[in-house]
Amino acid sequence: MTHTHQDWATLARHLTPRTRAFIDGDWRDARSGETFATVDPATGRTVAEVASCDTPDVDDAVRAARRSFEAGDWSRADAAVRKRVLLRLAALIEENGRELALLDTLDMGKPIAESYGTDVPGAAGVFAWYAEAADKLYDEVAPAPPGNLALVRRVPLGVVGAVVPWNFPLDMASWKLAPALAAGNSVVLKPAEQSPLSALRLAELAAEAGLPAGVLNVVPGLGERAGQALGRHHDVDTLAFTGSTATARRFLAYAAESNLKQVWPEAGGKSPNLVFADADLETAAARAAAGFAYNSGQVCSANTRLLVERSVAEEFTARVAEHTASFAPGDPLDPATTLGPLVDEAQAVRVLKAVAESGGTVVCGGTRPDRHGAYVHPTIVTGLAPDAPLAREELFGPVLTVHAFDTEAEAVRLADDSPYGLAASVWTRDLARAHRTAEALRAGTVSVNTVDALSPATPFGGFKQSGYGRDLSLHSFDKYTGLKTTWVSYG
Ligand code: NAD
Repeated sequence: MTHTHQDWATLARHLTPRTRAFIDGDWRDARSGETFATVDPATGRTVAEVASCDTPDVDDAVRAARRSFEAGDWSRADAAVRKRVLLRLAALIEENGRELALLDTLDMGKPIAESYGTDVPGAAGVFAWYAEAADKLYDEVAPAPPGNLALVRRVPLGVVGAVVPWNFPLDMASWKLAPALAAGNSVVLKPAEQSPLSALRLAELAAEAGLPAGVLNVVPGLGERAGQALGRHHDVDTLAFTGSTATARRFLAYAAESNLKQVWPEAGGKSPNLVFADADLETAAARAAAGFAYNSGQVCSANTRLLVERSVAEEFTARVAEHTASFAPGDPLDPATTLGPLVDEAQAVRVLKAVAESGGTVVCGGTRPDRHGAYVHPTIVTGLAPDAPLAREELFGPVLTVHAFDTEAEAVRLADDSPYGLAASVWTRDLARAHRTAEALRAGTVSVNTVDALSPATPFGGFKQSGYGRDLSLHSFDKYTGLKTTWVSYG
C-alpha cells in the first residue's frame, strides 16, 4: 500500500519513540537521569528527550556485553542459530519499516521516500546478507609437516564498540551490527546524538528476533561523553567507527591511551566525478546532480568535485544545474519531497557561509528555499582553484565545485590531489580509458558510468584520511574476528 503525505503525518503523530538506553535486555534511564533533545530539522520541534548516557552507563553496557559474550549463548551458538535470528531480524525490519523510516525522517530530516524506500530495505538486506554468510564461512588448514595439523580459525573478538553518524542512521548502524553479530560478538552501539531513535527500536526488534540479552546494547548520548567513554573503555576489544576524520583521529588516540583496542575508522570524503567529453553526457549530468545533492549532500562518498573535460565543461555544468531542479524541497513526510533539510540549522548556516565566502561564481543555489527549516538549495560553484577550501574540505551539504581539465593525466592528478580517498566516478565510453583511470585513482570505490555504486557484496571504505576500515562484504569480518591458530602434533 502506498502512503500519502497525510498518512505519514498521521503515523508520525502516533509514534512513541523508545528514549531510554537499552542495556542487558532492559530499558534504562541514564544513571545521571540526564536527557538530551533530538530535534526535527524540518520544523525545529523536539522529537524526543533521550537518555544521555555517560561513563557509568557505558560501563554497564560493556559489562553486559562481556557477560553475554562469556556466557556463550550467542558467541558459541551454532552459526545456523545466528543465521535464523538475524534473518528474523531482517524480516522484522521490513515489517516495522514504516516506524523505522519515520524515526530517521523525524530525527534528521531525510525525505520519507528515501528512508522508507531505500534505507529500510537496505538495512534489512544487509542483515539478511550477513545472516546467510554466517554459516558459509570456511576456515583454513595451513601447510604443516607430517604428523601435524595446523588449523587457522576466525574467532569473534568479544566486545565490539560501534559509533555511527546521523546521515544514514539505520543503515550505518546495520552495516556495523550485522557482521559484528553474525561473527558472534556482543556489541555496544552508540548512535549519533542527532539520530538515536531508530537504533533503539532496532535493538528492541533484535531482542524480539531472539538475540540474547546483553548481546546488543544501545547507549544514546553525546560524542564527547558516551562516545569517548566507549573509545577509552578498557574492556572493549574493537571499535568500529563511521564519522568525520576529526573524530576518527580521537578514537585512535583513545585506543592508544587506553587498552590498544583495534580501531577501524570509516571517515570523511571529498569525492571527484570525472566526466570525459565522449561520455553519455545526459545520463552523466543527471547522475552528477544526484551525486552531490542526494540526502542534501550529507553522504560521505558524495561526488562533490566535478572534473569535466574543458571542451564540454560549460554545457555540461549547465545540464547538471538543470537536473538539480529534480531536488524539490518539501516536508520530509511528503512522499513527493526529494530534498530534505540539513541535519540542523547551524549546518545550513555554515554551508551557505562557506559558499558566500568562497569567491567563486554561483551557477545555481547558494540560497535557502522560502520555507521553514534547515534547507539549502543544491548549489554549483565554478571559477575556484582546485585547492580552494570549498573544493578541498568536506562540507557535508549539497555543494558542487566544478573544475575543467584538458588531459586524462590532469584529470587523475586533480582527482587524487586530496587528503581523502573514499570514492570516485568516471564517465567515458572509452573502455581502455575507463580501466586506466579506475586503476590510477586512489579511491576505495571507483564507479564507472554511474555514481556511488554500492552493494552488500562489495567493500565500502577508503584510503588516506578517509580511513581504512571497510564496511560491507565478507571483508568486514576482518574488523570483528581475530585469527587463531590451533596446532595439533599427533606424529
Ligand atoms: P562525527 O564524527 O561528528 O560523529 C560521528 C559519531 O562520533 C557520532 O556518534 C558522534 O556522537 C561521535 N563523536 C563525535 N565526537 C566524538 C568524540 N569527541 N569522542 C567520541 N565520539 C564522538 O560525524 P557526523 O557529523 O555524525 O557524520 C558526518 C561524518 O561522517 C562525515 O565526515 C562523513 O563523511 C562521515 N561518514 C563516513 C562514512 C564512511 O563510510 N566513510 C559514512 C557516513 C558518514
